[in-house]
Amino acid sequence: MDLGIRGKKALVCASSKGLGLGCATALAEAGVELVMNARGAEALEAAAADLRERFGVEVKTVAGDVTTEEGRAELYDVAGTPDILVTNAGGPPPGVWSDWNRDDFIRALDANMLTPIALMTALVPAMMERGWGRVVNITSQSVKAPIPALGLSNAARTGLTGYVAGTSRQVAPSGVTINNLLPGIHATDRAISLDTGVSEQQGISMDDARAQRQATIPARRYGTPAEFGAACAFLCSQHAGFIVGQNILLDGGGTNATI
Ligand code: NAD
Repeated sequence: MDLGIRGKKALVCASSKGLGLGCATALAEAGVELVMNARGAEALEAAAADLRERFGVEVKTVAGDVTTEEGRAELYDVAGTPDILVTNAGGPPPGVWSDWNRDDFIRALDANMLTPIALMTALVPAMMERGWGRVVNITSQSVKAPIPALGLSNAARTGLTGYVAGTSRQVAPSGVTINNLLPGIHATDRAISLDTGVSEQQGISMDDARAQRQATIPARRYGTPAEFGAACAFLCSQHAGFIVGQNILLDGGGTNATI
């Protein structure tokens, strides 16, 4: 399927690895010019070079922390007025509800709620002026069903979801769609770090920790960044203009819910 977005410009945050890279890859394959971002320059430059070579699209890079004002200012300088915005950043650390103090919540809210909101506030107005835009926020299945060890994520991402529910309906008349993609368990560094936590906590091997988590997923496997990226590229495509303010689960059936 031709996604109809060849030549559009996208800013994909936190995209040197994992789900962000999956999104950047699928957009590059659709002919979209990219600005990629991550904290570490080395992996970022390698990922950008790979996409330039494989898909022949222009890829600019900005190494920096998207959760800081300085990091975002540099992104705005380089990205200008992109047509497509994919927001992403690392997730908060796991723990127990009684572990977290105000500072922990402020950090989580900054990274996983206020950062995507700041990016949308800065970049959506130019999309509205041009009458076309796509925003995809990478959130989490924890928005549909809370994950006990990820209380910081449950809280921050639900706040973002409420914001998107209201805002998406206000910008839709100008041809801009905002939607959220909710990953379940995917095979990325984040999954390895969560498996490591389970393995240490329960005194079991990494293989056993992974097998235990896979058994909780009806698809009996982790998702891949490539299939996540394909869903993101579709939401950014010309065909998805009627999808507004939705929360789309990609979790292999892991969330046991009727709707
Ligand atoms: P990952 O750790 O594999 O990749 C993170 C990427 O983000 C890297 O490129 C890293 O450099 C970049 N990054 C992290 N923090 C950044 C920051 N502050 N500024 C700029 N770049 C930053 O993570 P992932 O598995 O791809 O997950 C992406 C998001 O999806 C995270 O918020 C994660 O919590 C969430 N999520 C992931 C899963 C999963 O199973 N992988 C499940 C649910 C939710």
